[in-house]
Amino acid sequence: MTQELEKAKSMTDDVFQTIANHEQVVFCNDTATGLQAIIAIHDTTLGPALGGTRMYPYASVTEALQDVLRLAEGMTYKCAAADLDFGGGKAVIIGDPAKDKSAALFRAYGQFVDSLNGRFYTGTDMGTTMDDFVQATRETNYINGLPEAYGGGGDSSIPTSQGVMYGLKATNYYLYGDTELKNRTFAIQGLGKVGYKVAEQLLHAGARLYVTDLDEGALQNIAKRAQELHGEIRIVNHQEIYQTDADVFVPCAMGSVINDETVKHLSVKAVVGSANNQLATNGHAKILQDKGILYAPDYIVNMGGLIQVADELYGPNKDRVMFKTKTIYQALLDIYREAELDAITTVEAANRMCEARLAEQKERNSFYARTRRPKWDIKE
Ligand code: NAD
Repeated sequence: MTQELEKAKSMTDDVFQTIANHEQVVFCNDTATGLQAIIAIHDTTLGPALGGTRMYPYASVTEALQDVLRLAEGMTYKCAAADLDFGGGKAVIIGDPAKDKSAALFRAYGQFVDSLNGRFYTGTDMGTTMDDFVQATRETNYINGLPEAYGGGGDSSIPTSQGVMYGLKATNYYLYGDTELKNRTFAIQGLGKVGYKVAEQLLHAGARLYVTDLDEGALQNIAKRAQELHGEIRIVNHQEIYQTDADVFVPCAMGSVINDETVKHLSVKAVVGSANNQLATNGHAKILQDKGILYAPDYIVNMGGLIQVADELYGPNKDRVMFKTKTIYQALLDIYREAELDAITTVEAANRMCEARLAEQKERNSFYARTRRPKWDIKE
């Protein structure tokens, strides 16, 4: 065996094992612009794959591949949870967003996305912005999450925060038998695009708040708003937010905030927030359950933004997005009840709901249905 063949063999022999759960993985290499990207399509049972494109200076291609495979699989569940006619996919661009971006790079990326002919729709994620996709969309129509001026739905944190409010009401109903948030107490971690809007709506509803943020300006903003609304608010530091006497902890900052250390301190009745990947591990869902804390699975609570991005392909319509976002209320109640009846965690119940939707669609799908062009894409 030649040296080249041996090298190629060591690189490729395991490749199908690595991507065993995924339908398709595309490596994109454009020497002119320096673009190196990987697009992973996990499952198109429900429709064409949908998922953002992340740009990150991965230490190795293996690390980038692992990340994109994991994220694409997560999108299959998120799309199923939101009852969208989309499957799961994701892409990563290997590079430093601060140094390696150019209009040409995103146009080249747009051409790769276009070459998949509608099997993959994408938009922003960590490290990429709407401006990058304004460049990409010059080469392809399979882009979403664009600015309103380009036919996009605009700020996704509006439906996301609305979804969190539905999640909080469903949880209140499950725990106390009504959706009245007045005089309940919430501990909000993170007052950014989503957290601020949630805090504001809770103040409107007459709830009491504990809030924290690393950004002093964000704290001042909400304190001022609370004063205007005559609301009750207490600013606490980033450790104290886990130790309050609030009814509900509302994580709206970063992931892995429910971990071995923090879970010891929580004495709330429920955890309901927008942050992605709140649990350090799925085992923490069981720890919460054993402590009598109801956990609203994050990907159900925060699906308002995804609903808007997917819905955009039918033409922007804020009312329709809000109508669909409202389904979070019932979905959460169903998950809470199923978890209780079957003595499983709420994460297991949510995953089970998604898997049932996928199985049901698999039954329905003929090969023709699986490869049909989405109805919004049929222009002739
Ligand atoms: P953002 O960046 O606008 O706000 C995050 C806020 O959290 C910032 O104000 C930041 O200072 C604060 N923060 C960071 N670390 C903190 C810490 N340790 N303690 C306290 N505060 C901290 O982000 P966003 O758009 O509001 O999103 C919030 C979360 O919701 C993220 O996890 C995001 O992935 C998730 N999410 C957002 C959307 C959306 O539509 N924006 C959709 C789905 C999920």
